[in-house]
Amino acid sequence: MTNWLKPYSKLPATRATALPAKQDFNAKLAAFKKAHGFRERYTMLCHCSRHGRPFEVVFERASEADRFTVSAVNKLAEHAGGGSSAAPQEKRFDVKQFNTSGWHCAWCSAQSWIHCHCGRNNCDYRFRQTGGTLYKCEPGCGATGDIVPMTEIAASAASGAPASMKGRGASALPSTNRTSLPRPDLPRLTGK
Ligand SMILES: [Zn+2]
Ligand SMILES: [Zn+2]
Repeated sequence: MTNWLKPYSKLPATRATALPAKQDFNAKLAAFKKAHGFRERYTMLCHCSRHGRPFEVVFERASEADRFTVSAVNKLAEHAGGGSSAAPQEKRFDVKQFNTSGWHCAWCSAQSWIHCHCGRNNCDYRFRQTGGTLYKCEPGCGATGDIVPMTEIAASAASGAPASMKGRGASALPSTNRTSLPRPDLPRLTGK
C-alpha cells in the first residue's frame, strides 16, 4: 500500500489526458522501443524516516503497455539528499502504471512510503510507529496531514544510457512482435 500525503492546501491541477492521436503515436513508439530492447528507466529519490538517510528506487519497464517494476534499490550518500528533492526533469505517472510490490526502504526495510506534496518520498517507518493517523513530513518540509491512497508517482528519467541490448539477443524477440514495428517511412526517432 502506498500513500499520498493529502495537503491541507489545494494541489495544482494535473495535466489533461493525452489525445487519441498522441496515444496512437506513443503506442507505435512503444512497439519500436520494445523491439529494440529499450527499457524506460526512472528513479525516485526517497528518504528513510527512521534514519533520515537518502536512497533511490529504480523503476523499469520494457514498453508503455507494461507496468514499471522495481529493478533496484540503492543507498545514496548523505549529501545526495541535501539539495532539493524535486529533480528538474521529474515526470508524473499514474500510480496504476507501477507495480510497487518490490519497493522497500534501503535503510530500515519498510515496505511502503508516503509522498509529500513538497516532493519528499519518506518510508513509512515513522508513520507506523506513531499510530498511523496524522502524518508529518519528516525529514522534509514538516507539513502534516492525513494520508490518502496515492494516485500519482513522480520520478526522474534515469541519467546515462538506457540498459538496452544487454544480453538481449534478437532471438529473444517473438516473431509475432515484428508486425507491430513502425513502417520505415515513419519519422525517425530523435534525441538518441
Ligand atoms: Zn526506512
Ligand atoms: Zn513535505
